[in-house]
Amino acid sequence: MNKRERQERMRHLDEGIRVCVRCPLHAGRTHAVPGEGPVPAGVFIIGEAPGAKEDKLGRPFVGPAGMILERSLETAGLGREDVYITSCVKCRPPNNRTPHRNELDICQATWLNHQIELADPKVIVLLGKVAMHQVLQEERSLRKIHGEVIQRDGRRYLLTYHPAVAFRVPETKEGMKEDMARLRQLTARPARR
Ligand code: URA
Repeated sequence: MNKRERQERMRHLDEGIRVCVRCPLHAGRTHAVPGEGPVPAGVFIIGEAPGAKEDKLGRPFVGPAGMILERSLETAGLGREDVYITSCVKCRPPNNRTPHRNELDICQATWLNHQIELADPKVIVLLGKVAMHQVLQEERSLRKIHGEVIQRDGRRYLLTYHPAVAFRVPETKEGMKEDMARLRQLTARPARR
């Protein structure tokens, strides 16, 4: 598939996501949040679920967690515009609760797996335990395995903390920085000045 075709199909997915009613989360949304970034993408980042600001604007990681994510990406020599950013579910859960298993499964099978296929990234970064459980069925504690790179079905995954958690706990903030240095090695980008 050439680049144009990938982009065209991704646009088509975005349109589908904006009107999706396959799981109960659609009922409470203002805007669905498909994701954004280059296609194809070297780095594909997966969070948990949109929050209040994302729901309002229809864009991923534009609230407080997004600011931390952007700062973390700088450590990897990357800007927001260099990476594809999305979340496991595309609609905000009520009161920011954790998405339920059925919501995660439906959204992954209907949208996320296809987004990954079209972006065809070199590295997928999983932010936090919800993404890590959902995408890799990984049950170990992030404290033990953050920074690990896991190969699965021909794809490479880097595990790190969710920026909302990293912000609250100094130890995880430091850990996330180390993981982003690892991402820089994986993508072989020089550090930004
Ligand atoms: N947290 C996420 O996991 N995704 C967003 O888009 C915003 C906050």
